Amino acid sequence: MLRVTEIFRSVQGESTHAGRPCTFVRLTGCPMRCVWCDSEYTFTGGEHVSIDDVMAQVQSLGCHLVEVTGGEPLAQKEGFRLVNRLCESGFEVLVETGGYISTEELDQRASVILDVKCPASAEASRNHWPNLDRLRSDKDEVKFVVVDRGDWEFAKEVIARYELQIRAKAVLISPAWGQVDLKELAEWISSSGLNIRMQLQLHKYIWGAEVRGV
Ligand code: SF4
Repeated sequence: MLRVTEIFRSVQGESTHAGRPCTFVRLTGCPMRCVWCDSEYTFTGGEHVSIDDVMAQVQSLGCHLVEVTGGEPLAQKEGFRLVNRLCESGFEVLVETGGYISTEELDQRASVILDVKCPASAEASRNHWPNLDRLRSDKDEVKFVVVDRGDWEFAKEVIARYELQIRAKAVLISPAWGQVDLKELAEWISSSGLNIRMQLQLHKYIWGAEVRGV
């Protein structure tokens, strides 16, 4: 059984897949406590749902693209089995992970959107660095949520150290909602000389930051 916070259909709000129709399976629970976390409601509660029932709900929503997210979707062992079942059924699967848990056992058909936690999250010490060595340049993306100049400098250092511009399909720089001057961040990114991508959380611009299940 999985502990599930919500399953819903929307448009993908992040990554190079932004704008695509997508079903989200949001699993409950996370071992991290990023200070700017926008999904604290996933830390507790949720319903126990069998993988078969999750699959049935995903099938009924009719999207080719499915994202397994959280919380931390890999914190539940069954999360790995769900990803496997979704891949077996022919869905295009994205796994959005906070970067604390190893992706080694993840189904190779799934694409990973891997967070690297920056200092202002207060969880940078828990990054599982071997996950960066497993990134595949044809499908995996890496994301830095940036709060301030210190986070930006940290992101640049990690991008260089792990050669992320060639190791990952995309390097995403995402401002923490409401905490960053977007024009200033755009200037840092555009003048960096790096092959990276500024991303805004599309769903929050459409529905607002507090609305769930969209
Ligand atoms: S890893 Fe994600 S869900 Fe967990 S605390 Fe950080 S932002 Fe929130």
